[in-house]
Amino acid sequence: MKPLIGITGDIDERDGKRYLYIDTRYGSLIEEYGGIPLLLHPAESVKEVISKIDGLLLSGGEDIHPKYYGEEPKYPMELSPDIRTEFEIALVKEAMVKGLPILGICHGMQLLNVALGGMLYQDLKRQNFVAKEHQLGDGRHQVFITRGTQFFKIMGRTAINVTSTHHQAVKNIAKGLRVCVRTTDSVIEGFEMPEYPFLIGVQWHPEKEPDEDSRRLFQGFIDQSLGIRTP
Ligand code: MN
Repeated sequence: MKPLIGITGDIDERDGKRYLYIDTRYGSLIEEYGGIPLLLHPAESVKEVISKIDGLLLSGGEDIHPKYYGEEPKYPMELSPDIRTEFEIALVKEAMVKGLPILGICHGMQLLNVALGGMLYQDLKRQNFVAKEHQLGDGRHQVFITRGTQFFKIMGRTAINVTSTHHQAVKNIAKGLRVCVRTTDSVIEGFEMPEYPFLIGVQWHPEKEPDEDSRRLFQGFIDQSLGIRTP
């Protein structure tokens, strides 16, 4: 039996309608490494949705409204609709009750941090980081993995090159999470939950230019999801 991996998508509100969409490269990687990708519609029945899947992938997207971490927007930003944020927070909480493997990518990592009580930098550039290399266009940079972490075990080395496109990042990390990846300008690029089988957030986009490191990460995630699959 292949594990079913639920993926959250972007929601675009225009012409009085809501559209749910996703970069299909997430699903392609899931399929390539042994899972079945399933796009999750924002539904009320979060408990039922979680009971059907074996792993949860929180995909990239726009900025989370700062009200979810107790701030007002300080700078211009592209906001993710509340319906997505609230659906994702509910999914994370329910998935953790069931012990499902969770992988957060870019917005998905930030969402995990916020869902668990952490805070974000609203704009790296204005908060004294070398933001240029984190953004699309210049968005390829090196990150450093801490030895002894779950993430190091999966990746097997201390430095990798990643595709980066973000202007926000984790500021205060949520309780229970630990940093496992950073850049030289000290941006938190990855975290994990040591007391949990697989809860990992990465600030980069492994699906945009898939390489051997993307494979290791997705393979690790899918193998864990297979491990909890109920026959
Ligand atoms: Mn970055």
